[in-house]
Amino acid sequence: MDLPLTDPFARPISYLRVSVTDRCDFRCTYCMAENMTFLPKAELLTLEELDRMCSAFIRLGVEKLRITGGEPLVRREIMTFFRAMGRHLERGALKELTLTTNGSQLRRFARDLAECGVRRVNVSLDTLDAEKFGRITRWGRLAQVLDGIAAAQEAGLRVKINTVALKGENEAELFDLVDWCAQGDMDLTFIEVMPMGDIGGEDRLDQYWPLSDLRARLATRYTLTDLPERTGGPARYVRLEETGSKIGFITPLTHNFCESCNRVRLTCTGELYMCLGQEDMADLRAPLRGSDDDAALEAAIRAAIARKPKGHDFDYSRQQVAGQTLRHMSHTGG
Ligand code: SAM
Ligand code: SF4
Repeated sequence: MDLPLTDPFARPISYLRVSVTDRCDFRCTYCMAENMTFLPKAELLTLEELDRMCSAFIRLGVEKLRITGGEPLVRREIMTFFRAMGRHLERGALKELTLTTNGSQLRRFARDLAECGVRRVNVSLDTLDAEKFGRITRWGRLAQVLDGIAAAQEAGLRVKINTVALKGENEAELFDLVDWCAQGDMDLTFIEVMPMGDIGGEDRLDQYWPLSDLRARLATRYTLTDLPERTGGPARYVRLEETGSKIGFITPLTHNFCESCNRVRLTCTGELYMCLGQEDMADLRAPLRGSDDDAALEAAIRAAIARKPKGHDFDYSRQQVAGQTLRHMSHTGG
């Protein structure tokens, strides 16, 4: 391998998140507007291009790949891509291949994913109430997602639940969600709403439930022990002593994680975002399509990593949403 990727702040870049589509079968209120315009197909990287792109990153030292979207499992023939990445797992260059999904297609794909070498899957689920689930996701059905989670567990995949903390929506369900995950042997991570993309009429500040408040509420019922575990991302973990289960908190609005950031994000059109909360990006599709040889692509990747900023600028203070990005999470990949 060539010299592994390292940014100007001496952070090794070992984790790539890849959005394989901007499309989705849900329309979560904090993520998308109801009427979304999606990209023309020609803009998207083909499955072969995604393979070439990710293989280049792996050659440069990426060891962990998270596939996301939009909804990654609605991309046609996506198992072809998972199988292609599975070969990097087999030869040991890739340590982990995983995905973030809304769970709607897991019944169909869980077994195939396990066969490709996927061991863990993050499923986004904000409520256990079917009616509320319908309201938050607009187009989703809770029963289908719960069945998808069951399918994943039957296939031997470890499931982690991601829950966006939503003021007035799932506040009252905090303990139900925690207990349900503990019973199903699933870790649970809460996420603060991030100001990403136009969501059509919804107000970010109306949705924002600070995790400091959520955590304090948890502590009224459980004994929380901080865990030293760090993933290079914005998550912090605690163990609930009474259940033994692990709870994560993703607080992108505080800056306390940027110094250990080990990740970059590739959009479905081949743009590389060096920071989730900054607009600077590098177009990697042009060098990829410009030549069959990967030299220009690798040079473009290295040049982009050399521009990775120290941190992001999200801020909800003074009742304003600052540092807002224009692009949707479904474009960059959450
Ligand atoms: N469709 C898949 C899913 O929902 O898991 C993968 C893509 S989704 C964009 C990835 C994660 O981002 C989900 O857990 C979702 O809840 C979260 N997300 C989307 N928009 C968000 C926002 N504005 N703030 C915080 N989290 C967000
Ligand atoms: Fe789709 Fe995931 Fe966004 Fe919900 S959060 S609309 S499931 S991409």
